[in-house]
Amino acid sequence: MSAPFKTPVKGWCPGALRPMPAGDGLLLRLRPKGSAVSIDAARAIAAVAAHCGNGGIELSMRGNLQLRGFAPETLPEALAQLARHGLLDATAEAEARRNILISPLAGLTTAPDIRPLEEKLGSALAEARDLAALPGKFGFLIDDCSAPSLAACPADIRFDYDTDTGLFSIGIGGDATEAIRLGTCTTDALVPLALGLARAFLRLAALPDAGQAGRMRGLIDHYGPARILHLLRLGEGAPVPYVATDLRASVTPPVGRFDLTPSAPSRASACLAAGLPFGRCDAAMLAGLAEAAERAGASDIRLTPWRLVFLTGLEPARRDHLAEELTDLGFILDPADPRLRIAACSGAPACAEASTPVQDDAQALSALLLHRRASAGAPGIFLHVSGCAKGCAHAAPAPLTLVARAGLYDLVLEGKATDHPAARGLTLTQVESLLARSFSPETGASS
Ligand code: SF4
Repeated sequence: MSAPFKTPVKGWCPGALRPMPAGDGLLLRLRPKGSAVSIDAARAIAAVAAHCGNGGIELSMRGNLQLRGFAPETLPEALAQLARHGLLDATAEAEARRNILISPLAGLTTAPDIRPLEEKLGSALAEARDLAALPGKFGFLIDDCSAPSLAACPADIRFDYDTDTGLFSIGIGGDATEAIRLGTCTTDALVPLALGLARAFLRLAALPDAGQAGRMRGLIDHYGPARILHLLRLGEGAPVPYVATDLRASVTPPVGRFDLTPSAPSRASACLAAGLPFGRCDAAMLAGLAEAAERAGASDIRLTPWRLVFLTGLEPARRDHLAEELTDLGFILDPADPRLRIAACSGAPACAEASTPVQDDAQALSALLLHRRASAGAPGIFLHVSGCAKGCAHAAPAPLTLVARAGLYDLVLEGKATDHPAARGLTLTQVESLLARSFSPETGASS
């Protein structure tokens, strides 16, 4: 069986059926449905990663699993194993279009279960061949507005459930705050509207004066919100533009023990949120997590866009022991762990674009931040260590961003990896001493 991957093109996003060549081999991206993998599927993924890849596993910012280090010769066996556990789409095209992020706790809380909607939308996108031209990263989002909400996660087309009205608020081009709101829709109207908006995007992006807008936000920036609303004529029954005022504010995701209000009274509510250091683990960690989670009664593993996995429905008496087991495996169960505040991409040697070992450097800097108590203060990413100006690990600004260039780091203050640096060509030692001087040991505040 020949390797089923195609030559990369601009804007191309990897899948499992269309892997991407990287510095350490082929990278496979899995998009598990329902933001979840079963315990058996997790075991299978770990085995595939260990035996067919180099064992590296990443949890992406859209809650997808990336398996690293495959060779063309090992790919057929890997795909056969993944297919056996229902982890593959029918075609690479269907897989590419099914870029849907949903609430990680869908179906487990008092909010309406949005998983059937995700399934319907995924099927409709798979059949919509006219949407083949959508950009690789073009993404949909359905938030049931249970905590923690997806309000801070951006999407090209988003639907945020409003508990007061029982309707979904339709947004385009951003997170829940910055997205342009088009109106509201019922559950039944959501899938046709999502497809209609995707088609409208393609129509507008093809206009002669559309410029180089590759995503919905680019189109909005190019035309301006008012013109976009005018251009997005959706025909009869089109939603009336309105301003959303009551969307739930973004809720900081939990780390460690948490409880949820279950949809079914009999279901156990004891949960654990386990962090992956810089969004990464290896096959042995995932296999260990699957075994430990099963012993503690978890039915599946929920994947999140926050570099965390949620284990729900645990036997309360076993939760503390599970937390210890996961900590021993290398997962983060302590909300104060500074690695939760650091974003770091693959770096060298995994990424061919990188000139520095970003992961090792981020680990070294996390020890420094722990020592300086720099993990205190406002939540969110504090330090972004990027292997190049592409900034894959963190698209938003951060207080400190280190951008590798020719083996050294440029430092950006309160910006993104693409922004103008305040200092250039720093060694890691210089970065460490600069960070050490920037913090008050008592408060962790930057000076
Ligand atoms: S930011 Fe650059 S070095 Fe890091 S993973 Fe992305 S392309 Fe590679």
